[in-house]
Amino acid sequence: MIELRDIKKDYLVGDNVTKALKGVSLHFRKNEFVAILGQSGCGKTTMLNIIGGLDRHTSGDLLINNKSTTRYKGSDWDTYRNRSIGFVFQSYNLINHISVLANVELALTISGVSAKERKRRASEALIRVGLEDKLTKKPHQLSNGQMQRVAIARALINDPEIVLADEPTGALDTETSVQIMDILKEIASDRLVIMVTHNPELAKIYATRIIRLADGLVIGDNNPYDGQKETDETPIERLNKGQKRKASMSFLTALSLSFRNLGTKKSRTILTSFAGSIGIIGIALILSLSSGFSDYIYQVQVDTLSTYPITIEKDTTNYWELIRSVRNNEGEVEYPDDEVVSSNPITSTFVTQLGTSGHVNDLKTFKSHLDQEELRVEYADDFSAIQYAYDIKYQIFSSTYSASENTRLYPFNIPAEINAGRYLDLASIYDELLDNRSLIESQYELLAGDYLDVANEDDQNKVAIILDEYNRLPDYVLFSLNLISLDKLINPSGDVSFSFSDLLDIKLKMPVIAQFYQDEDEDGVFARVEREPANYPLFQEILDDSFELEVGAILRPRPNISATSLNGSIGYLSSLTRSVIDKTNTQPVVVAQLANPTIDILTGAEFVPNASTTFKTRSSELGICDIDTPNAIHIYPTSFEAKDRLIAMIDQYNQDKSENAKIKFTDYVEILMSSITIIINAITTILIAFVSISLVVSSIMIGVITYISVLERTKEIGILRSIGARKRDISRVFNAETLLIGLFSGAMGVGIAAILNWPVNLIINNYVDVGTIAVLPWYAVFILIAISMFLTFLAGLIPSRIASNKDPVIALRTE
Ligand code: ADP
Repeated sequence: MIELRDIKKDYLVGDNVTKALKGVSLHFRKNEFVAILGQSGCGKTTMLNIIGGLDRHTSGDLLINNKSTTRYKGSDWDTYRNRSIGFVFQSYNLINHISVLANVELALTISGVSAKERKRRASEALIRVGLEDKLTKKPHQLSNGQMQRVAIARALINDPEIVLADEPTGALDTETSVQIMDILKEIASDRLVIMVTHNPELAKIYATRIIRLADGLVIGDNNPYDGQKETDETPIERLNKGQKRKASMSFLTALSLSFRNLGTKKSRTILTSFAGSIGIIGIALILSLSSGFSDYIYQVQVDTLSTYPITIEKDTTNYWELIRSVRNNEGEVEYPDDEVVSSNPITSTFVTQLGTSGHVNDLKTFKSHLDQEELRVEYADDFSAIQYAYDIKYQIFSSTYSASENTRLYPFNIPAEINAGRYLDLASIYDELLDNRSLIESQYELLAGDYLDVANEDDQNKVAIILDEYNRLPDYVLFSLNLISLDKLINPSGDVSFSFSDLLDIKLKMPVIAQFYQDEDEDGVFARVEREPANYPLFQEILDDSFELEVGAILRPRPNISATSLNGSIGYLSSLTRSVIDKTNTQPVVVAQLANPTIDILTGAEFVPNASTTFKTRSSELGICDIDTPNAIHIYPTSFEAKDRLIAMIDQYNQDKSENAKIKFTDYVEILMSSITIIINAITTILIAFVSISLVVSSIMIGVITYISVLERTKEIGILRSIGARKRDISRVFNAETLLIGLFSGAMGVGIAAILNWPVNLIINNYVDVGTIAVLPWYAVFILIAISMFLTFLAGLIPSRIASNKDPVIALRTE
């Protein structure tokens, strides 16, 4: 059944060749108990390992069932070991971290037998060796004899045709040795048992055939066999009837084996995972910070850009260019060595610049360009609002105004003797809200009423009162709303407070300036209606014909908003602006002035060129505006990138235009923010660098840990190989283990980072009030666990390769 033909085995260590076997020819019966005797070092183990397919011979041939094995591949040997061979070692070679039962099951586990079947057969084998009460014990809890019996049970589990025992009683006392020999003898009743032993007495009593080796050669055989009498009926077929198994382990089996292995070393696994998770924690924290930070930066950008939009004014002077020309740092040679002094042409440059820096933008054409449907769609994501500013003129009165008793509320009408009045008139109180309700909502929280919406017609005559974060309003705003008197404004006393409903109850009247210019004597010359007793009824009439405003909302900037879009305290919608313009343009004084652009409608005289009063100044005084010709255009970009795209859009608009038709503006935001952008980019780069370093560190560490695990489990690799595990199975076991560790460390890292974010936020907020910065994005959880698994897998690839390539014979010898 097994035949060795002139088997030679040389071991090459450095330049030394050890001839362990020098030409052994032997033929074994399918059923006998062979004892191999010989001095230590004569080649017994080598021969056994060659027969068992653990080691390869240097020359000669090993025939299995009369078939040569010269063409055997690694997988054939694996299958041969798994199916036909059972190994029993002197040092038992049990895997200590799994139970007795699991040790015995191992060969079945590798060949992918179902758990139930495995358990049944392993229990049977253990009962056969008399260990039915030790199934759940760990090997180290057993005596030496019991451990050897477990090893025998393991060798028998696949019902192999050949059991190879290498000094099975070498470490046992006489009494235990006899018990083991009895078991082996019983096993040998229906198969081939080849036992290496030092003990000629035991051999004599139990073996049916004794072969003596000396110095790599057979020197004696008391029961030789020539192979003639054996039938061709092969025991392999007998053994495998009804079951076609291949020595191959599914990845799931590898996973469960690794899972059990890790389970038996819980504290070590937890420590390893924790060590591996440190990198992930670092990355997760940095990710939380950087994503929170970039969200914050994004919000700052949006907020900032809503305060500092791209502003294109009708008349522009590029002051920045002017300032630059004055600074003029450019020169020929820096720190020259010669002794010549030259002139820096600052004045001449300034004069030239001044000549060319003034420019009138054609905002009418540009507005029609901006209002194109396609352009709005194309840049929809790039701007949050486009605001057209007009030089509208209006006044604010209380709705309960009585010409004889009250004065107007805004602009202030403060008696000249009160000095502060001059400065108060500079205060900007009314401001147009942006046509972007969601931007307003993101910046302001609603305290009462409802957000104003330009889409809602009813909101046109509503204003929003904007408090500060302490629910305060400037006193001059309270004054402008008729809530406090001028006396109280100048000499405050006591507590001043109002309820929201006080504010919501406010009603105002808003006449346009042009309404106050009337042609009472109908001579074609208009005069301003002053607040004099004679004019009280007329005044009242004008007010009755004015816009009635009410308070529609009380807003307050949200916490952690770095900049808000409104300067004033009272906001109105652009629809009101349009109505004011329309109303102005229908006033008789405006109609008359526009009909006679050369005549000053307030004096009846012709406009004189270069005089201080021109058609332009008069139009401005009357509040005349053309809705198609704004005074300024404010474009509110959504981000710095969006701003760049919008500026590119303007550049494109300018491309085929003549110099006069070009749109020019100064990008103050760019000037303000360029240094901030540099800082943001630097921080982002540093964070990314940190992330990469942590990634590298954590993967190196996991590689090292896996390598240590390989070293630790070398013996186990040998055992697995001896019972038929393929190289691939070994690397699978380690890959499964690294994947599991990657999963644990990933999950642990993400979990710990999520917990750590809490104190991190507390600390950050201790220094700067920016809200919750560190937040782990949900997608990062999955990505980080995947990265952790991928990296541990990658880091474990080399160690697992090393493991699978380990020579099983050497692996078995390691302690
Ligand atoms: P035995 O089992 O009879 O004690 P071995 O078969 O273990 O003898 O060894 C036979 C000879 O081969 C010895 O000289 C031993 O030193 C040598 N040998 C065994 N294994 C190796 C190996 N892996 N590398 C080099 N030499 C080896």
